[in-house]
Amino acid sequence: MEVIDRLLRYIVVRTPSNEDNDSACPSSPDEFKLANMLADELRDLGIEDVRVSDDCFVYAKVPATPGYEDKASLGLIAHMDTVSQFCDHDITPCLHENYDGCDLPLGESGRTLTVHDFPRLAQLKGRTLLTSDGTTILGVDDKAGIAEIMTCLERVLAQQIPHGTLCIAFTPDEEIGSGVDHFDVDGFGADVAYTMDGDAEGEIQYQNFNACEADFKITGVSVHPGSAKDIMVNASLVACEINNMLPGCEIPRCTEGWEGFYHLCSINGDETATESVYIVRDFDAASFEARKATLRHIAKTLNEKWGAGTVELTIKDEYQNMENVIEGVPHTIAYAKEACERAGLAWAVTPIRGGTDGCQLSFRGLPCPNLGTGGDGYHGPYEHATVEGMNAATDMLVELVKVYAEKN
Ligand SMILES: [Zn+2]
Repeated sequence: MEVIDRLLRYIVVRTPSNEDNDSACPSSPDEFKLANMLADELRDLGIEDVRVSDDCFVYAKVPATPGYEDKASLGLIAHMDTVSQFCDHDITPCLHENYDGCDLPLGESGRTLTVHDFPRLAQLKGRTLLTSDGTTILGVDDKAGIAEIMTCLERVLAQQIPHGTLCIAFTPDEEIGSGVDHFDVDGFGADVAYTMDGDAEGEIQYQNFNACEADFKITGVSVHPGSAKDIMVNASLVACEINNMLPGCEIPRCTEGWEGFYHLCSINGDETATESVYIVRDFDAASFEARKATLRHIAKTLNEKWGAGTVELTIKDEYQNMENVIEGVPHTIAYAKEACERAGLAWAVTPIRGGTDGCQLSFRGLPCPNLGTGGDGYHGPYEHATVEGMNAATDMLVELVKVYAEKN
């Protein structure tokens, strides 16, 4: 079966995860519908070791080809849930054959997919473009990844391509960040894995932000404004002062690529007490520590200026750059590049400006870079993918299986 035929079956099964129910896994019972369907499909491919766990993970294992048992076991992972925004009614996929590379009105929705917002569209001229009707997401994030893994397995098995052990997982609740907490790393049994959850085909990602949250609690000195001369310390003004001491251009709006930032998430309070909360992001570990040192220095300086105890700073680390782990297993990236080249695909290493499931898995002992699926415009009605891009990503996956079977 072709990738597109699989994808069209998966995306009509709506699987929005529910962030209001993130203490449960899965957060939405709908995810079981897709999980059971995928488990049946894996069994139909002739794979015997398939299970759906109570928390809605689909795990499957394909034993190594005889003689290949000592090869690294390769994991392939994709997530089953979608965002819940733009996912409240049936998804109507639209195929646009021989797409002209120009702005494309999406059905009767009044929305238009524009080259201005998605410049890569111009390069997709002549391909078969898949979109929704503009009233919902499409769901290629991440059902394209599932369809590609499934099609790769079908080809590897049908063509009897020699391989080491292959470990497959389809996971719930990636979009609300809670699913991976329940991932059974030991039961999964892979030495290394890849999430198929990126954008353009050929994309390879293994660097994400180092991340922390910084919480400033500011205590003011409050007196009647009419008699406040040299007495009042206005906590809200101190919060403004903190922000003014940070570099104004190092904010999300002004940064991209491998650039880090300070992001003011909230500022609440009055002259008596104000709290401002930032998140801090940086790819480089040393520069991340320098950002934290800057925040501590600001707190120290303002306490010297306004009195001890005025500013109380709490910094909470959130996650780390998975590059720290991947550096120890550089072949994971070299093999991915080689697989792209063998599939005739230009690879591109791009940064992940956030966290990923693969990041958490990497720090739990399963190195897990992320690969592109051929989709774009995720998390909204402009989500799209091309049939050619998804086919190329599948070719790359088959080559990846071969590369792992050849090397030690
Ligand atoms: Zn995704």
